[in-house]
Amino acid sequence: MEQIVLEHVTKRFTTKALGTVTAVNDFCLKVNEGECFSFLGPSGCGKTTTLRMIAGFEDLSEGAIYLGGHAVSVKAKNIYLPPEERGLGMVFQAFAVWPHMTIFDNVAFPLQVQKRPAAEIRERVKVALKHCSLDGMEKIYPSDLSGGQQQRIALARAIVVNPKVMLLDEPLSNLDPQLRETMRFEIKKLQKQFGFTIIFVTHDQSEAMALSDRMLVMDMGNVRQIGTPVELYNSPSSRFVHSFLGQSNFTHVDIRDGKVYAKGDHSQQIWAAPQTGGNKEMLMATRPNTIEMGRDEGYSTKVLKRVFRTDFVEYLVPVGDDILRVQTLHRNLFQEGEPCRLKFPSPMWYPAEEDDSDKERARRMII
Ligand code: ADP
Ligand code: MG
Repeated sequence: MEQIVLEHVTKRFTTKALGTVTAVNDFCLKVNEGECFSFLGPSGCGKTTTLRMIAGFEDLSEGAIYLGGHAVSVKAKNIYLPPEERGLGMVFQAFAVWPHMTIFDNVAFPLQVQKRPAAEIRERVKVALKHCSLDGMEKIYPSDLSGGQQQRIALARAIVVNPKVMLLDEPLSNLDPQLRETMRFEIKKLQKQFGFTIIFVTHDQSEAMALSDRMLVMDMGNVRQIGTPVELYNSPSSRFVHSFLGQSNFTHVDIRDGKVYAKGDHSQQIWAAPQTGGNKEMLMATRPNTIEMGRDEGYSTKVLKRVFRTDFVEYLVPVGDDILRVQTLHRNLFQEGEPCRLKFPSPMWYPAEEDDSDKERARRMII
């Protein structure tokens, strides 16, 4: 069943400094019950605004949102359900716990708003704390705890209402890397136990890849691609998605009658098959670890620089006007300055010209 549905959701903000900014543009999405779905994108791309609209903290400029088959925000019909009636659990980036209240009072708060009986509140808080490894800490104040434990209080407060949907907005970004890893695991465990649907917002690609059943990549308010982590990594539909997930080389090339030449070097072909005929400029995108570096066949160039890494060796190698990063195993060693040949078994191809989002990005960065 579809648990969360967004239809053509748009949000515009108007400020003196920037005029009108479309923070979220024509956003369409269906998230299934029990799915862990991530929003990934750079800062300012509209992730939090989308989440706030789902939660009911923000009205829509256009579009509709349905939760569990119920209309919660429908602009055209003036439907708008307040946050407390949406049955959601939420955890935000900042440690949004009340420092002057005990852990018990922090976690009990949503149930007190719902005016549940005291005995029931005590029991449910106890269970929520247990699930978040905070057993017996009812009387402690959050300020006595570490950042990771404070984020556990926020998690306990979110699950205490038995939500069908959990909205997590960069909940791990204030934690150190090791703790992030542990908390990721704990969130997945809680999801298994409680069976809720998760929307997880992050700007960290490895976090999104590790947690998600499916995910989307956003840019400047627009959804650029939706799919499983593997689909997005292996078949990015745009240059932006390619560059945002994993490492990328973009080589400017001229296609001439089905042959590929590096821009700035028409003396030899690049050994790759373009998916386009005619004569045009394109960008050839490659991952540094998929380029084959040898001595016998391929595009002839030489090693500019070599850097030893733990699990591979990285070379900087010029191809026409561009310098590519190539990663090989330690047993395939080249010296700096040594001639080498490159083959590109599986490149992706993108239009060479910048698209409109580059112009809009530049406009917003003026301020
Ligand atoms: P993200 O969470 O991906 O970093 P946000 O959703 O916070 O991005 O912001 C998206 C865009 O909307 C940004 O350009 C931001 O400046 C703008 N924005 C967000 N909230 C407001 C607001 N209350 N007033 C004006 N502009 C806003
Ligand atoms: Mg945000």
